[in-house]
Amino acid sequence: MSDGLLIVSEEVCEKVVDRASAFTAVENVFAAMARGDAYNFPVIREAIGYADALYGFKSGFDKAGKALGVKSGGYWPGNMDKGLTNHQSTVFLFNPDTGQLQALVGGNYLTAVRTAASSSVSIAHLARKDSKVLGMVGAGHQSQFQLRAAAEQRDFEKVVAWNPHPEMLPRLGAVAEELGLPFEAVEREQLGAEADVIITITSAFEPLLKKEWIKPGTHIACMGTDTKGKQEVAAELVASATVFTDEVAQSITIGEAQHAVGSGALAEAAIIPIGAVINGDHAGRSSAEEITLFDGTGVGLQDLAVAAVAARLAEEQGLAGTATL
Ligand code: NAD
Repeated sequence: MSDGLLIVSEEVCEKVVDRASAFTAVENVFAAMARGDAYNFPVIREAIGYADALYGFKSGFDKAGKALGVKSGGYWPGNMDKGLTNHQSTVFLFNPDTGQLQALVGGNYLTAVRTAASSSVSIAHLARKDSKVLGMVGAGHQSQFQLRAAAEQRDFEKVVAWNPHPEMLPRLGAVAEELGLPFEAVEREQLGAEADVIITITSAFEPLLKKEWIKPGTHIACMGTDTKGKQEVAAELVASATVFTDEVAQSITIGEAQHAVGSGALAEAAIIPIGAVINGDHAGRSSAEEITLFDGTGVGLQDLAVAAVAARLAEEQGLAGTATL
């Protein structure tokens, strides 16, 4: 990267970072984390008592990928009414050799594309190869990215979906249609009975899926729970599944596993970092009947990994702005 400060806008991020490069960046950083070559610093996330906003920092260092930095931002629930994305964030990348600020990178598109890459990596490594039906729980901003990325991982023949606010589903249905996938809005029991892969991506604070609705062999990617108190599926479902995660420390504190671990139904030691599967140190799914659950909590290193890709490609293609401090 150049010696000056690069500025990479949201628009340029969308132009240069595609799903394939996000997938590779996220898969590599999960693998580096499991090898001990990359680590996340403790997350700060606070309700600031203004505009109903949650604001915080996610930070880390990837020695292998030489990415050092922080994503700062959060969630402003009133933004949609203003025509803005509810998630707002910016990634700051620093030179790990000197500490100098290297790049300012828009984080909104990157957050969506790296979160979709995360569930996608889990589907690639853990879902049954013969998965045919994709179940979507959630229909907000992230859900469309999730659907597009998941659709590339298996030969899905159909999408079934449920959302607590059903009026949001047609927008997701339009994405499925664009991908050539039949789309059906269903009740939750039917979603569980039909889906081979389920993605949950809501802001729920109570379980939306019960254990008895899920059929054997399903892979579930729980992507919405990223804060203490949030929950998308029943703790009994988490406890009965083989649980994988991006990072165990986040999984048990701010992820979906916080409830099952908190109640003693699931041991922290039973949770497997997905990087171990990527590195070949864990076999992953062990049978066609096993329920696998990926607790995708969202780590700062994912943000740094895709932001580093954005900065490199933007500079190579002459699309980055420059500044000096
Ligand atoms: P959004 O505001 O666009 O959509 C919210 C979704 O949650 C919709 O499906 C909505 O119907 C549903 N919802 C809203 N309030 C609810 C409630 N009280 N109970 C149940 N469902 C409710 O948000 P988004 O950008 O699509 O993000 C969805 C979730 O994903 C958020 O919780 C966000 O924090 C989380 N997220 C996680 C990661 C990660 O890395 N794991 C990354 C980005 C976002």
